[in-house]
Amino acid sequence: MIKRTRFSPSPTGYLHIGGLRTALFAYLSAKSQNGRVILRLEDTDQKRLVADAAEKMISILDWCGLKFDEGPVQGGEYGPYVQSQRREIYDRYSKELLAKGGAYRCFCSPERLDKLRSGQMTRREPPRYDRACRDLPEAEAAQRAANGERFVIRQKLPLTGEIRVRDELRGEIIFSAAELDDHVLIKSNGMPTYHFAVVVDDHLMGISEVARGEEWLPSFPRHILLFQSFGWTPPKFLHLPLILNKSGGKLSKRQGDVSVEDFKNNGYLPEALLNFCALLGWHPRTDNEILDLAELIKVFQVKDIGVSPAVFEDSKLDYLNGSFIRRKAAAELVGLCLPFWQKFWDKHPEKAPAKAPDKIYLEKIILLEKDRLKKLSEIGERTDFFFQTELSYDPKMLIWKNFLPASIKANLQKIFHWLSAVNEDDWNEKKLEEVVSEGLKTDKLGTGECLWPLRVSLTAQQASPGPYQIAAILGKNLSLKRVADAIKKL
Ligand code: GLU
Repeated sequence: MIKRTRFSPSPTGYLHIGGLRTALFAYLSAKSQNGRVILRLEDTDQKRLVADAAEKMISILDWCGLKFDEGPVQGGEYGPYVQSQRREIYDRYSKELLAKGGAYRCFCSPERLDKLRSGQMTRREPPRYDRACRDLPEAEAAQRAANGERFVIRQKLPLTGEIRVRDELRGEIIFSAAELDDHVLIKSNGMPTYHFAVVVDDHLMGISEVARGEEWLPSFPRHILLFQSFGWTPPKFLHLPLILNKSGGKLSKRQGDVSVEDFKNNGYLPEALLNFCALLGWHPRTDNEILDLAELIKVFQVKDIGVSPAVFEDSKLDYLNGSFIRRKAAAELVGLCLPFWQKFWDKHPEKAPAKAPDKIYLEKIILLEKDRLKKLSEIGERTDFFFQTELSYDPKMLIWKNFLPASIKANLQKIFHWLSAVNEDDWNEKKLEEVVSEGLKTDKLGTGECLWPLRVSLTAQQASPGPYQIAAILGKNLSLKRVADAIKKL
């Protein structure tokens, strides 16, 4: 039988890292076994819906590279894949459940329920429905419903005993029936709650395995009981470990960006985000943990998922991102960096190039920078000196250790002289190094007091790649102009 997994977010906000991790695990579990993965939107809680959230989730999942086999966009034979479009189905199955005795109509007014709850709160009891309508004779309940009385449908849960459920990662888990409440499955407006819709849809859509966050464990016994009341075989369940921040607390917006969209805007690559999410709870058997989606599919196994909380380490994400940046060819990186360069130039118009730089120039810059880049968003700041005609900096930056400005000036004059003699056709890193090293040797000059001011004159930066590499990219004219400008400053 073909494995079918699903990712079923509620479009109540942005897709966060935890959601992406769930989607990825469902995806990997299916794809590592040639299965199918389904996207389903769980939008039955209309009050919590956020406009655009569904579209944004779909587009960011697509950007990440997770391609679903069935879903709201691509359709499929088990659709519709949006729960609010499946009301008739839920209606039919709620009637079936009533007939099978797995649920009952509850006519209690909201006022009665409020009173019940506040009484329980004052007595410090857990808020529970007191099951007042549970034993209404069926004929009476049906009549009241037919008379137009408002009602909800509640799940009829066992009153005593144990409920044994199996989680694929944890083995058997035992819940006590006394902990469970006869919760609402169908609201008075006819809309199902998540608990009802999820079970009906997982069954009707032929889902064979569910991967979801550990926060759903308390609901797990109710779901299993619901499957049983219908007489359906439940899918396998994996409850993925919690994701904690470094201090052991819950991951929240305050600790930084948790929305996938924000990570994208901050210059993270989808490969790195997926790799990072995979390692939040799953441990590869090999030493190599830098894996893109295709590689993850090859090595992923459900049995390598742990249950202890995963810790969100942003330094790890930066490390993975840097690794994937280095894997990319210069031409592709230029395309990926362009929007970030543009953003930087829009923010600092004084640093923007006078005319659009050509691709070859950008590729050379990328080749020079890619080993040091951790995020694409760093590109503007790191490379701004390549695009400006005039650099502005404090002349003190040119001074190496406690050398006098006059001697630094003299060194730069010599370098200017040596470099001027290099033919434009020979203007490359190797040649420049040769010429300057030769000069230094002949004139018995140290590297620090010559190469430091040369590098600063070319970049106006405290740290950057070496001066020969930079001068080779800048070209003869611009390099000499910058050295001459530096000499004037001293
Ligand atoms: N719609 C639920 C959520 O957004 C999914 C829970 C589940 O996968 O069963 O968290």
